[in-house]
Amino acid sequence: MSTHPATSTRYTSGGEYLTPVRIHADRAAGRLEITWADGHETTYDTVSLRWLCPCAYCRGEAGQPGWLDSSPTLTPDQTRLVDVQLVGSYAIAPTWGDGHHTGYYTFEQLRAHCPCAKDEAHRRGRAAGEGETP
Ligand SMILES: [Zn+2]
Ligand SMILES: [Zn+2]
Repeated sequence: MSTHPATSTRYTSGGEYLTPVRIHADRAAGRLEITWADGHETTYDTVSLRWLCPCAYCRGEAGQPGWLDSSPTLTPDQTRLVDVQLVGSYAIAPTWGDGHHTGYYTFEQLRAHCPCAKDEAHRRGRAAGEGETP
C-alpha cells in the first residue's frame, strides 16, 4: 500500500474518479445521485442538471448559440427528470418531462461540474491559479 500525500492528483488521473459505481435518479426529490469508484458522491438537483445539457440544441453548434444561451425560463416539465439511460460506458442521457432526451452527459462532464463544496473550492482554486479573480 502506498499513501498519497495530495488528493488533488486524483483530479487529473482519470480512471476510478470517472467511473460511477452507482447512479440513482431520485425523481420524487428531484435529484440525481452518482457515487464514483474513488468513493466520491455527487448530487445534482435536476434544475442544475438541465442547465448543463450538452446537446447541440441547448448548447448550440458551429459557433451558433444554443437555446440555453438565451437564458430561457425553464418550465417545471423541462426540469422534471423522467428517466435516465446509460450511454455505453461513458455517459448518461436523461429524459425530461418535456420529452427532451438528446443530451449525453459524459461522466467527465458530470464529475467536472460536481456541485459539492469540496469540488467548488477546488475549481475556484484552479481558476485563481490561472490568474482569474473569483
Ligand atoms: Zn439539450
Ligand atoms: Zn464533488
